Amino acid sequence: MLIKPLTESTVLIILRSLNTRVKLPFSEKQNYTSLEKGYEGEKKYEAILVENKISDLILSDILLEKNNTFFQIDFLLISQKTIYLFDVKNFEGDYYIEKEAWYNAVGTEIKNPLDQLKRCESLFRRLMHDLGYASTFSIEAYLIFIHPEFTLYQTPRNLPAIFPTQLNRFISKLKTKSESSKLNRTHQKLAEQLVSLHISKPPISHIPEYKYDQLQKGIICGSCSSFINEISENKVVCHVCGYREGVDSAVVRSVEEFVLLFPERKITTNDIFEWCKVIGSKKTIRRVLRQNYTYFKHARCSYFVPQAEQ
Ligand SMILES: [Zn+2]
Repeated sequence: MLIKPLTESTVLIILRSLNTRVKLPFSEKQNYTSLEKGYEGEKKYEAILVENKISDLILSDILLEKNNTFFQIDFLLISQKTIYLFDVKNFEGDYYIEKEAWYNAVGTEIKNPLDQLKRCESLFRRLMHDLGYASTFSIEAYLIFIHPEFTLYQTPRNLPAIFPTQLNRFISKLKTKSESSKLNRTHQKLAEQLVSLHISKPPISHIPEYKYDQLQKGIICGSCSSFINEISENKVVCHVCGYREGVDSAVVRSVEEFVLLFPERKITTNDIFEWCKVIGSKKTIRRVLRQNYTYFKHARCSYFVPQAEQ
């Protein structure tokens, strides 16, 4: 049972937008691509857990803190006696391990996923201890390799990892166990506690510098992130993937993107008209803003604020 569903991180949303609107430096582009790929893998894993009706409590994408150290858990599953931590890796192609270091096919060393998993497990153990659950649950942590074309050479047999060829069997086992799992108020309370400890607005790091004037303006497709270049029957239409969306909803989505990228900038009709270039009618922009945001009238510059911030 999904208690906290997966959501895209703010960094991913910002980088996705920048990737369309500006030419990212090579390393940023790589970082963006790997975040996008990682998210894709997590979505796949979440879908598998949901499709298999795993009845244990599932928390996706939990960011916690212990001793001023942040640690992120892709999936946390609370069963009757065990808490499972899953770190999903969407690696594709051939990798190998040599003297405990991990390398990709061309021999470049990568961040050791096992070290990350161990660090996360150990911080989580300490957190559980602080919360008073140390003796209530055992904790098992696994790397989940979800991409069907992943191979890891020279793998020790005791690696806490589930490979693509083992995933079905592993999920069946989880499902069988979850069917006999008896959950009560304690499990529910722990899930609620962990959700309340989740840091929803982490400090944003690893974002390249950008300025409003440098970014290409326009509405980005809600499905494939290309620029929209056609409006038809009050809908924006993407020529790349065929995605269609009502003009109002596309403008609101673009304003949200604008606010995320430029939190210090005021939302004005002129700026949003420029930002949503393809719309071509200032009247439409003003109407959508008036309907969805709160209007503040000033002699020189009137502006809008999101309704929740009134
Ligand atoms: Zn598209």
